[in-house]
Amino acid sequence: PVRVRFCPSPTGNPHVGLVRTALFNWAFARHHQGTLVFRIEDTDAARDSEESYEQLLDAMRWLGFDWDEGPETGGPHAPYRQSQRMDLYRDVARRLLDAGHAYHCYCSQEELDERREAARAAGRPSGYDGHCRDLTAEQVEAYTAQGRAPIVRFRMPDETITFTDLVRGELTFTPENVPDYGIVRANGAPLYTLVNPVDDALMEITHVLRGEDLLSSTPRQVALYRALIELGVAKGVPAFGHLPYVMGEGNKKLSKRDPQSSLNLYRERGFLPEGLLNYLSLLGWSLSADQDVFSIAEMVAAFEIGDVNPNPARFDLKKCEAINADHIRMLDVKDFTERCRPWLQAPAAPWAPEDFDEAQWQAIAPHAQTRLKVLSEITDNVDFLFLPEPVLDEASWAKAMKEGSDALLRTAREKLEQADWSSAESLKEAVLAAGEAHGLKLGKAQAPVRVAVTGRTVGLPLFESLQILGKERTLARIDAALA
Ligand code: GLU
Repeated sequence: PVRVRFCPSPTGNPHVGLVRTALFNWAFARHHQGTLVFRIEDTDAARDSEESYEQLLDAMRWLGFDWDEGPETGGPHAPYRQSQRMDLYRDVARRLLDAGHAYHCYCSQEELDERREAARAAGRPSGYDGHCRDLTAEQVEAYTAQGRAPIVRFRMPDETITFTDLVRGELTFTPENVPDYGIVRANGAPLYTLVNPVDDALMEITHVLRGEDLLSSTPRQVALYRALIELGVAKGVPAFGHLPYVMGEGNKKLSKRDPQSSLNLYRERGFLPEGLLNYLSLLGWSLSADQDVFSIAEMVAAFEIGDVNPNPARFDLKKCEAINADHIRMLDVKDFTERCRPWLQAPAAPWAPEDFDEAQWQAIAPHAQTRLKVLSEITDNVDFLFLPEPVLDEASWAKAMKEGSDALLRTAREKLEQADWSSAESLKEAVLAAGEAHGLKLGKAQAPVRVAVTGRTVGLPLFESLQILGKERTLARIDAALA
């Protein structure tokens, strides 16, 4: 049975790279009717925070992911927060030491730096040089007498490590490129290098799908796994698949510090979780050559890790928005009406709560639905209804109010006054007739009307907008523009 894991560290805000990793693991688990383990890697007390942990959980829920084992859900391998599993790691580190797979290393940072520099200068590999691999009892005593506290270092076997990456195919690492590495700090704190594979082993993870940035740690983990199998801690080595880098602006790796990568930003702008996930799935994968827009269920049905492209993927915000717009259009109109709520209320909405009108909202919503890239755009599109007066921006006003606009507006007002307000078509004819009287086509004739009434040069279909605003308020706004 397939068992995969999503195991973020609770540092900072959730970012899109993390979401892509979660998505691929989740889709893989669901495609294979497997188990998704959600594990919190919070062993770095200096960087981890409870706030970040809460945000992670909240993000996973907002995205619609479910997990079979993990925080709040529990499971046979609980607890799922590494900070609560310290005794397990201590025990495994002790057994690795006892079996000779690990050793105490007393080298100070300065000594390590110095020797690394010297190796570099001499053109030799600059990783750990094995200095403390085989210390005598006297040497250990001498270091201890100096008050040195050792770290625990894993002893890499002197052999080439080969594994078949599910995305990249066969990969080979020679020993000089994979030196012995630290697994427990001098203060006794276990490191990612130890706790991550130990938990993968204990939680019986079968497939490790994670970002390419972790590829260099995989040969080390494969060697550690082999030692863990010998100790009876692990049953086997999982399969690994490394997901391609995500490139941001300027073809630079999208880093988690990049503001463009913050998940909160996408939530605040009103991306739909399904739109965002659809787009993120395309960062390294595709459903087919001619279909970019699909549901998450379609993705799950088709998702094969072997189809993931190892080449770096480029994050394209425009495309992300376009796909989101498609998902907005695909919503049931009632659903759309409800999902916009957060932007119709304080603090997002610029109008006073008592000026909001539910019937007008229901009437305008279908016209807005086909035009939004993200839900937050709803506010600017409907504010003309709920603000006592339109926000007139000078530039739009100047643009729409060319020579002769006053005369046109006057005529339009007269015609609108006589129009049949139960029909948007009749309002259109009124403005069309006003335009004809001044030798203007509909497009030119409606521009000043739109600006006078909505304050903007672009917006929702004008005549439906006027109708929903109502005759009285529409005419009053034209009067105000003419005054
Ligand atoms: N906690 C690690 C990270 O967030 C997990 C890496 C892995 O998937 O092995 O980078």
